[in-house]
Amino acid sequence: MKSVALIAHDDKKAEMIAFVIRWQETLRQMSLVATNTTGSLIERETGLSVTKMLSGPLGGDLQIGAMVASEQIGAVIFLRDSLSPHPHDPDITALMKVCDTHNVPLATNVATAEIILEHLSRTV
Ligand code: PGA
Repeated sequence: MKSVALIAHDDKKAEMIAFVIRWQETLRQMSLVATNTTGSLIERETGLSVTKMLSGPLGGDLQIGAMVASEQIGAVIFLRDSLSPHPHDPDITALMKVCDTHNVPLATNVATAEIILEHLSRTV
């Protein structure tokens, strides 16, 4: 089963929930991994089941990065707050680097995330 990782900075969590609701039938057929708060919100708002890592500020994004490095993740959606990041928001750089090293698609905004999901929905 394909695994998709989902992470959203605080000001992007509402956008992430709206995105997951739009794609929930596709995402239901995939194994979902998320940082803790993002994953808990997704579970509460959609009923989808999510494997939750640590919260982003505690290193959950790096746990997901380790999964990318060990080829357990097929795509990463990291909705980044580029305008007003909070000091506790995890830095995307390490995750971006490991995705590039392992040629794993990474979306940092909803427009790219839609394109990735459209592609994955045709291949599930
Ligand atoms: P969270 O981690 O889902 O645990 O909040 C991501 C973030 O802090 O941006």
